[in-house]
Amino acid sequence: MVDTDTLEQVADLLARSQRTLFITGAGISVASGLPTYRGSTGVYQGGVNEEGLPYELVLSGDMLRSRPEITWRELMRMAEKRLINPEVNAGHQAIASVPNAVVLTQNVDGLHHAAGSENVIEIHGNLGKLHCTVCDYGRDANGWKNLTVPPLCPACAGVLRPGVVLFGEALPQDALDRLDNELRQGFDMVFSIGTSSLFPYIAEPVVMAARAGVPTVEINPEETEVSDIVQFRLPGNAAELLPALVR
Ligand SMILES: [Zn+2]
Repeated sequence: MVDTDTLEQVADLLARSQRTLFITGAGISVASGLPTYRGSTGVYQGGVNEEGLPYELVLSGDMLRSRPEITWRELMRMAEKRLINPEVNAGHQAIASVPNAVVLTQNVDGLHHAAGSENVIEIHGNLGKLHCTVCDYGRDANGWKNLTVPPLCPACAGVLRPGVVLFGEALPQDALDRLDNELRQGFDMVFSIGTSSLFPYIAEPVVMAARAGVPTVEINPEETEVSDIVQFRLPGNAAELLPALVR
């Protein structure tokens, strides 16, 4: 339960904040029908697929290079289960309504953009784009309909890949640079929403803000790495709590 006094305090601070950082993870997309997960590309850190192969192998940059059909078969399976037509929910919409907000998300579902957030840093990439591993061809994924396995580039017949960070791959440098730049400008308020904050680049902005005396808020039904650090902890569902906070 979240008490109304705490909600009021957080809502007042947010109303006064000139520059707000929202850090989001899978928890914000739960109300869109997507499951929560851990790991850079999916679900699935530490788990095995239907054939008993570790996801960290199947969904790795190395596998995509050496046996792209194995990676793509798994990606298509994931797509069938959970990625097709997820819809924006009230949590995404609430964040998009906050002026001068920066969104740092681990989600690859593109829903912050779809909700209208303008400054979104997708640190693990986006499933909405496909691009060629050989030439500079790229296109929208269009819901991944009618793809061959693996899908091939119409320009050079190279293998196409989704615009996400696979296991063993570096984070996209442009996203890291943008994050660095935003953090240097500072924030009046930092939210951590629906993420277990296992990755240092996700937890650190919260820790830095808390140390600097900047108001910090966690929205998560479960306790996480930053639960003891934040000033306000709202144990609940982002799609319900965020609309109440932005009023
Ligand atoms: Zn190509």
